[in-house]
Amino acid sequence: MFSLKFGGTSMGSAEAIAQTAQIIIHHPEKDKVVTVSAMSGVTDLLLSSAQYAIQNNVQGYKNILQEIEEKHSTALKILVKEEEFYKEGIDFIQTKLSNLSNFLHALTVIGELSSRSNDEIIALGEILSAKLLSLHLQDLGEKAEFTSLDTIVSSMFKHDHTTSDKHFFECFSHKLGSILTPLLEKNVTPICTGFFGKIPGGIVNAVGRGYSDFTAALIGKACNAEEIQIWTDVSGILSTDPRIVKEAHVITELSFNEATELANLGAKVIHPQTIWPAVKNNILVRIKNTMAPDDPGTAITKRGKDSHYAFKSITVQKNITVLTIQSANMSESGILIDLFQSCASYDISIDLVSTSESSISITIQNGHQHLSRLITELEKRYMVKTVHNKAIIAIVGNEMRKHIGVAGRFFSSLAEANINISMISQGANESNISAVIAGSDANNAVKTVHKEFFHTK
Ligand code: ASP
Ligand code: MG
Repeated sequence: MFSLKFGGTSMGSAEAIAQTAQIIIHHPEKDKVVTVSAMSGVTDLLLSSAQYAIQNNVQGYKNILQEIEEKHSTALKILVKEEEFYKEGIDFIQTKLSNLSNFLHALTVIGELSSRSNDEIIALGEILSAKLLSLHLQDLGEKAEFTSLDTIVSSMFKHDHTTSDKHFFECFSHKLGSILTPLLEKNVTPICTGFFGKIPGGIVNAVGRGYSDFTAALIGKACNAEEIQIWTDVSGILSTDPRIVKEAHVITELSFNEATELANLGAKVIHPQTIWPAVKNNILVRIKNTMAPDDPGTAITKRGKDSHYAFKSITVQKNITVLTIQSANMSESGILIDLFQSCASYDISIDLVSTSESSISITIQNGHQHLSRLITELEKRYMVKTVHNKAIIAIVGNEMRKHIGVAGRFFSSLAEANINISMISQGANESNISAVIAGSDANNAVKTVHKEFFHTK
């Protein structure tokens, strides 16, 4: 079987949902479990309705509920022709929203938002989108069934689970299998909510935004999927940001570790941590484009595959601050520890580190609320030089372990383009090299390096 997940933009309008349904209907794999995100923007709206409620801004949350109701009923009207299904849909939307309205009203009295309440509220995004898609499929004569997953979790917590640890997810995945397999046996396609329940700590904290990818991965594991497909609005993971280089190409296959590196270095599309259940069980994860379903997409596998290039992708992170620290006695041991601990105490993460006999430089993403406090603290003990508006350009890919001269070409292409490098770092796993440059050189640097390594000359 295949586990298919459709993201917010694939569910964003009646037109997008209709396209999603066509992909499901014409999918070459017979046995499919579908997982959906909320219609795009709806999770954000729900989160702000909760904020309005605890601020006792009744009009604020009512406006939002109205907007959500309109969005879904407009789509329903276009997607569902059969009277009986249409009526079912309208009743569903109205009942769910009126329950939410009561819940938000109670929050105005409590004035406080627990993670459980937050989960209760955002759940609605996926409940409504999954219902819309399943009614549309039924209207087209398909055997599809709306499947809300949160009841599984509530039944589990009545028993022995108090935390959402590894054991919890194992057990959850087992239960998922026992619910979904009988449906597949009856040739029914379950349309599951990406939201899977009020878990300890709250889904946003315990899993993070974009949790529907994780749900699809858990389903893939639970049902022994051959493949998990994440359907989104781009044709896969690209060789660089297409807004900078329009010739950027899709990477055919990459390893879980490369995908993780790319995500940490600022490439979006998918956060690989959300698909670890799949990768751990050796299930191929493919990123596909709902608007261009014939594009092959990008496969993420445990080991990946080398491309015929010297590496796979170029990332760029802007708004970087470089701190260079000097002390009267740099050889004094413990400076690195002290520096790392100071950063950790302000919850500031360090991206690159470079040391010399007389100084240590680190890079930090600018805009951290405690950055200036960290600098003030460090200045009490060290000489600190702060440079803002830097950028980090990085090349990523396992291929570079085998190719000779990649670093040399990377740096000399930057030099030829008159771009000054102020710091260099090679990743510990030998699959990435990063250089710090001026922020104003960032786009030019990406174009130059892309041309040097990827464009046929
Ligand atoms: N709708 C949720 C979010 O925006 C979950 C998801 O899209 O995966 O985070
Ligand atoms: Mg999403």
